[in-house]
Amino acid sequence: MKKSFKLTKVFNIPVEVNYSWFIILALIVFTLAMNFFPATDPELNPFTHWLMAIIAALLLFASLLAHELSHSLVAQKNNLPIKGITLFVFGGVAHMEKEPQSPMVEFKMAIAGPLMSFTLALIFFGLNQFFYYFYFPKALVSITLYLFLVNLIIGIFNLIPGFPLDGGRIFRAALWAYFKDLRKATSIASWCGRAFAFFLIALGILNIFNRNIIPGLWFIFIGFFLSEAADASYRNVVMKNILGGMRIGDFMTKDIISVNAKITLEKLIDDYFFKYRHAAFPVIEDDKVIGLITLHDIKEVPRDKWPTTHAKEIIIPLSRDLTINKNKEALDALTKMARTGFGRLLVVEDSKIIGILSQKDIMRLFEFKSEIEG
Ligand SMILES: [Zn+2]
Repeated sequence: MKKSFKLTKVFNIPVEVNYSWFIILALIVFTLAMNFFPATDPELNPFTHWLMAIIAALLLFASLLAHELSHSLVAQKNNLPIKGITLFVFGGVAHMEKEPQSPMVEFKMAIAGPLMSFTLALIFFGLNQFFYYFYFPKALVSITLYLFLVNLIIGIFNLIPGFPLDGGRIFRAALWAYFKDLRKATSIASWCGRAFAFFLIALGILNIFNRNIIPGLWFIFIGFFLSEAADASYRNVVMKNILGGMRIGDFMTKDIISVNAKITLEKLIDDYFFKYRHAAFPVIEDDKVIGLITLHDIKEVPRDKWPTTHAKEIIIPLSRDLTINKNKEALDALTKMARTGFGRLLVVEDSKIIGILSQKDIMRLFEFKSEIEG
C-alpha cells in the first residue's frame, strides 16, 4: 500500500502528502477550533472559530511546504536532484538522490529550511501588528498570531541538533568538516538524534504522570518518530557508503533457470520449485522473457487447478518496474524494490534475460562488503 499520494508539482518538484498528515491536520483544526481561538477570541461564535481553524491549518500546511521547498531549491542549485517532497506529521522530507558532496553544501541546504520558517514568522508577526493597529477584524489578528508562533516553533524545533532534523544536519556538516569522514559524522549526529528522541519520550512519560496526558502523548509520539528517523537515515548513509558504485551487472545472478510459458503449475512445482528452491522463476516464450512467476502467486491458485493452469496465466508481466539495467547501481535496485514491492528484478537486454537480482542478493553483498571494509 502506498503511504502517501501526489498532491501537486512546485518548481518541477513533485509534492506528496503522507496519509498521517490528515490525522494531524484534523487534530490541529480541532485543537485550534476548540482551544486556541476560543481563548484568543471568546466573543466570536463557534462557527467562526472552526472557519479560522481551517484557514490557519491550511496556511500552516503552506508554511511547511515553503520550509521543505527552500531545502529543495538550495539542493537543486547545488546539483543535487530532488525526486520529491513528502509532507509528514510535523514537517517533511525532501528526497535526495545523492548525499551532498561537501559539508558546506549540506550546511547551506540544512539552514535554508529554518531560515524560511523564521522569515515566515517575521512576515506573520508584521501582518499581525498591522492588522492589530489598523483595527482589522479580530479573526485576522488571531490567525496571523498563530502562524507567527507556529513558524517560530517549527524553526526552533528543526534547529535541535539531532539528525535527521535540520539542526542535526548542520551538526553533521560541522563534524564532517572536522573529521573528513561522512560515515563517522552521521554516526555521531544520529546518536544525538536518538538521545534527543529518548529525552522527548522521557519528558512525555513525566508529563503523563503529572496528568498532562495530551502534551505527554505528543512528546512520546514525536520522540518515537524521531528515533526511527535517526536509525533509518543512519542505515541509509551506511548503505550508500558501502554499496555506492556497485553495478548490478557485477553481482547479479547470471546462471538463470527459466521456465517455459506453457508449463503447468503442477509440473512447475515438482520440477522447479522443489528442485531448485527458488522463490521465483523468469518465464520464457519464443526465446523471449515475458515475466516472472512466483511461488506466492501459485499458492493463490486452488490446488485442483494446478494440473490445468499454465505458467503464462499467472505471471507478473514484464514491465519497467520488474526490470533493471545492468549498468544501474545496487541502490537503484533497492529503491525500485522498495517502491514497487517486488523482491526480485530481472536484468534484461534485447528481450533476453541476462541476470536476476533479489533483495537477498543485495543484502548479502552488503554484509560481505561491510565485513571486509569494517
Ligand atoms: Zn527542514
